[in-house]
Amino acid sequence: MTAAAHDRESARLFAEAQEVMPGGVSSPVRAFRGVGGTPRFMVEGRGARITDADGNRFVDYVMSWGALALGHAHPAVVEAITRQAGRGTSFGAPTALETALAKRIIAALPAVEMVRFVSSGTEASMSALRLARAGTGRNKIVKFTGCYHGHADALLVQAGSGIATLSLPDSPGVPPSAVADTLTAPFNDLAAVAELFDRHPGEIAAVTVEPIAGNMGLVLPAPGFLRGLRELTRKHGALLIFDEVMTGFRVAWGGAQLIYGIDPDLTCLGKVIGGGLPVAAYGGRRDLMEQLAPAGKVYQAGTLSGNPLAMAAGIATLDELSRPGTYDRLGALSAAVVESVRSAAAKAQVPVQTASVGGMWGFFLSTMPVTDYASARASDAAGFARCFHALLDRGVYIAPSAFEAGFVSTVHDEAALEETRVAFEHAMAAVTAPSRT
Ligand code: PMP
Repeated sequence: MTAAAHDRESARLFAEAQEVMPGGVSSPVRAFRGVGGTPRFMVEGRGARITDADGNRFVDYVMSWGALALGHAHPAVVEAITRQAGRGTSFGAPTALETALAKRIIAALPAVEMVRFVSSGTEASMSALRLARAGTGRNKIVKFTGCYHGHADALLVQAGSGIATLSLPDSPGVPPSAVADTLTAPFNDLAAVAELFDRHPGEIAAVTVEPIAGNMGLVLPAPGFLRGLRELTRKHGALLIFDEVMTGFRVAWGGAQLIYGIDPDLTCLGKVIGGGLPVAAYGGRRDLMEQLAPAGKVYQAGTLSGNPLAMAAGIATLDELSRPGTYDRLGALSAAVVESVRSAAAKAQVPVQTASVGGMWGFFLSTMPVTDYASARASDAAGFARCFHALLDRGVYIAPSAFEAGFVSTVHDEAALEETRVAFEHAMAAVTAPSRT
């Protein structure tokens, strides 16, 4: 493919990267396979905007896949990282920074009584699962089709995110034995979960769910769905795990569990709690958490877990986010973006479904309401690709996949919203235009 002037340097860097890294990337969705074209190599981010290697500037709605609730290079976060870097980047010994971040998380999430820090959401989910199995003495787990909990073997079953973007079946290399105890149900289908409990009495350790699904696009829980999961798990002696890696400190200060008033047994966190550095965590009931080594026997460890640089970034981020009005502002920004999507789609006569909650938003090109993975997949992916590229041409960067959510930050401003509104008018018109050859 010949590169146009506006992406020549990205194309050159991508070709070079593909020589030394599979697909040229460190994580699949970044490669633009879901939309075609050249992935943009980024060189700088400031506030709500990013700049690529060809000097193009974009209003960013990927925000490091939701991690950057304060935008890029927020002064408080940069200052915290810089200060800590001068004192050492890693000790492999305890620091007070871990306790400080743990206290903030525990104060925000009443169901979380203790926290263990890890370095990725994958680790958090995988470890929470191990703990749930140990805590119940049962092996089976229930996950939902189109939900993504990282790439641990047992959870890589009918997963969202990159698996959905690339239309992959489950991954080769995951042995059948690793997923033999993983049961799946459609998101929002309480009856299917009840049936699994009936079919496997006394065998299910936990139900794990993204309480607001963000890895098949943004799909909200139906009224009563999460409460129903809480009741079913209690009734059958299983644990309820909320994977709030994406939603924690993003949809509300107290996450989706605050919005829906549900206390899960275990919660997974990531993204925002690290302010753009690699931090994730899992936490929950004290009696469960104290089963973790060295307090208990369930093993889980990490060389860089609780890394001081990352803890400092997380503390600075949460302290900024704890200011009054933050989540009202994030919610208003998401609602404004979604309103632009809706009005542009109406003008171009493109059927669209939209949703937003706190700092998360999303849309599907679909005539039908989207409530689960099957209805998400029925949306117009080719139209999405045209929409995506038209947005990119107009300086708006959203996730290069129809099956990912959008993210705002506290520093998206009126100017950014107006650019976005105008860009969506062009993008929705492009959805119905004859495709580019
Ligand atoms: N759980 C959820 C809900 C996620 O959104 C993600 C990542 N998008 C993960 C787990 C995995 O996190 P990580 O990419 O940090 O391993």
